[in-house]
Amino acid sequence: MPMGYVDLHLHTTASDGVLSPSEIVRYAKAKGLQAIAITDHDTIEGCEEGLSEGEKIGFEVIPGIEISAEHSPGSMHILGFFLDIHHPLLNERLAYLQKARAERNPKIIAKLNQLGIEMTYEEVLKASGGGQVGRPHFANVLLEKKYVRSFQEAFDRFLKKGAPAYVDKLRFTSKEALHFINEAKGVAALAHPNTLGMNGYSELEKLILKLVEEGLKGIEVYYPEHSAAEVAQYKTLAERYGLLSTGGTDYHGIEKNGLDIGVGRGEMKLPYSIIENLKAVRNRFSSAYAEDNDFSRR
Ligand SMILES: [Zn+2]
Ligand SMILES: [Zn+2]
Repeated sequence: MPMGYVDLHLHTTASDGVLSPSEIVRYAKAKGLQAIAITDHDTIEGCEEGLSEGEKIGFEVIPGIEISAEHSPGSMHILGFFLDIHHPLLNERLAYLQKARAERNPKIIAKLNQLGIEMTYEEVLKASGGGQVGRPHFANVLLEKKYVRSFQEAFDRFLKKGAPAYVDKLRFTSKEALHFINEAKGVAALAHPNTLGMNGYSELEKLILKLVEEGLKGIEVYYPEHSAAEVAQYKTLAERYGLLSTGGTDYHGIEKNGLDIGVGRGEMKLPYSIIENLKAVRNRFSSAYAEDNDFSRR
């Protein structure tokens, strides 16, 4: 069995990371890791490049994703590993998400216009300097045009959640996300449960049970921001419900308070057996799934 560490939660330039997929694969190898998963936010666009770089230099890359799902009060992210990145449903769902997000900014403009504010999308684009457009750029234009006296006022009066020009970001439900991850032969794990904002163990346990029913196969137990008590709690939950324990650093290509790929802040060092367990679940599950869905035998 390979001896190096693995890292199953990484971002590239395909989402908000700093290193390209090829760069992160080369970096992981240079750091002595054994394998990585590429898990960009709501996209698999970096997977193909990462996989081919891995093949070229002899390094194992797992095609993955991190989906933001509808949840309150905190935020819910769901990881998918070993995805069939050419699966039609997966690609269709992600394209749908991208389209909805692109339509969000023009919708904010329409709402502001309805409120009597004269503003065009071109003005907001200009304020963004050509990068990704977000609500801060709307706030800057409102300030420039003296509709508000401060950046904060722009958010409070118009842009924050619940304000009259707020437009919600489209998110899939956990059920939808788990469905297309499973359809694409992926193994789904709940990312960093400590961001869910759950009130205590039993509330978290209830949520996990619902997610298991929807197709969850693992929990990201090991994560740099988890306390020792949280790691113990998530591990107990995983064992109780027969879920895999996964882990990763959520490295974005920049050192954040000393966080690095594979090791986190020195405490991660996850063994390759995590990947072997994932593979076993994927194989067991996808063959059972294929049998269940083999209509020719009925
Ligand atoms: Zn996340
Ligand atoms: Zn992440």
